[in-house]
Amino acid sequence: MLLSALSHFSRLSAILKKVMINQFAEKKDICLIGGGHSHIIAIKQLGMQPPSSNIRISLICNDQFILYSGMLPGLISGHYLPQDCYIDLQKLCNQAKITFIQDEVERIDLLSKQIYCNLHTRFSYDLMSINIGSQPMLLDIKGASRYGCPIKPLKQFLPNWLKWLHAAQSTNEPKHIVIIGGGAASIEILLAIHYKLSHTNLPHVNFSLICAHPSILNSYNQRIKQYFDDYLNKLGINVITGKRVTAINQHKLVIDNDMTLDYDFVVWATNASAQPWVAKSGLKCDPSGFILVDQFLRSVSHTDVFAVGDCANFIHTPLVKNGVYAVRQGPILANNLIAASHNRSLLAFKPQKYFLSLLATGDRHAVASLGPLHAHGKWIWLWKNYIDRTFIEQFNQ
Ligand SMILES: Cc1cc2nc3c(=O)[nH]c(=O)nc-3n(C[C@H](O)[C@H](O)[C@H](O)COP(=O)(O)OP(=O)(O)OC[C@H]3O[C@@H](n4cnc5c(N)ncnc54)[C@H](O)[C@@H]3O)c2cc1C
Repeated sequence: MLLSALSHFSRLSAILKKVMINQFAEKKDICLIGGGHSHIIAIKQLGMQPPSSNIRISLICNDQFILYSGMLPGLISGHYLPQDCYIDLQKLCNQAKITFIQDEVERIDLLSKQIYCNLHTRFSYDLMSINIGSQPMLLDIKGASRYGCPIKPLKQFLPNWLKWLHAAQSTNEPKHIVIIGGGAASIEILLAIHYKLSHTNLPHVNFSLICAHPSILNSYNQRIKQYFDDYLNKLGINVITGKRVTAINQHKLVIDNDMTLDYDFVVWATNASAQPWVAKSGLKCDPSGFILVDQFLRSVSHTDVFAVGDCANFIHTPLVKNGVYAVRQGPILANNLIAASHNRSLLAFKPQKYFLSLLATGDRHAVASLGPLHAHGKWIWLWKNYIDRTFIEQFNQ
């Protein structure tokens, strides 16, 4: 009898001790910077499997409503309404009991573990994750920071495009639209604009695509390249390959320092570049300023910092910058942030060799690419539409 009472008492005191420890244990702050693909997936997961009460999570992003890049071409073409393509970060964070802070991070101090923002003063962190994407590289093109529209940030590109379109519709003059890039995003945007303008009352519009590589869609298989070469040719689009834009002024582009081209609207969709404050903070980065991370998505120089998506460079297998890898990193990141805050072992991210790319061609038609495989048709667009809508709906329910 006495023994059983004693064992009950010791079990009760162990439970009480656990409760007390939890209650008085120091709170750990996990700060997520940027509302990129990996973070929204991680937030969704953390909402479904809430961490213990001594972990406080916040998301700092410069925008509350984020435009899903996969649906931007369809939005420009007119297949989607704006409300189909946005994710409300405030709502997503509320559901996951995560604090949402709308602000732009400008600097981090890795020694004192402080994050400095544009509007609010600063935030402390115990663990931090960075998912701030990338932007077209414009530094080496004279005048590019003043003229033309970078494709990213998307929140700036869309209003710039709509403003130009509105102004162009009030004149009767022919126009010349130039896209500078040659990767998948540049071609999807070019074809979306082409489709949109062929369904408006604008008079004749010419299109050029300037690509620094010898061929467009450099990282894709030969059949995809050939398909788009033929398709752009059929639409009468002037494709200039193996040439680099070196300068721009209000009306002209300079190509390879010797040839000029008049333009009315320019889209910059050049190679990805990183935000300069990241490398300046002291985080170990590659020569382009992307954060070097190990297989656990953790900075190779600072174990309390994780980085995912376009702003990270995965040292084990350099990855193409796309949404597919960023999305796949989300669940691993969610697990590792919680595991790291409890000093538990981390999961490794194992990127797949081939990833599926579905490229919209402006009309309700798309092309699929998976490693060496390729297919095209209206059904691919329906498939892409289903995937994109399902992706976005999981955040907006
Ligand atoms: C038109 C277009 C179509 C595309 N289509 C596809 C596709 O179909 N499939 C595919 O796999 N990839 C596609 N991509 C590529 C894809 O968009 C990127 O690879 C992907 O967005 C990378 O996501 P991310 O998670 O790194 O960051 P992003 O999705 O770029 O998000 C970064 C976030 O961080 C925020 N942010 C940035 N800086 C700061 C700061 N300093 N402080 C606070 N917040 C900040 C931004 O507002 C943004 O919310 C497309 C790209 C474009 C441009």
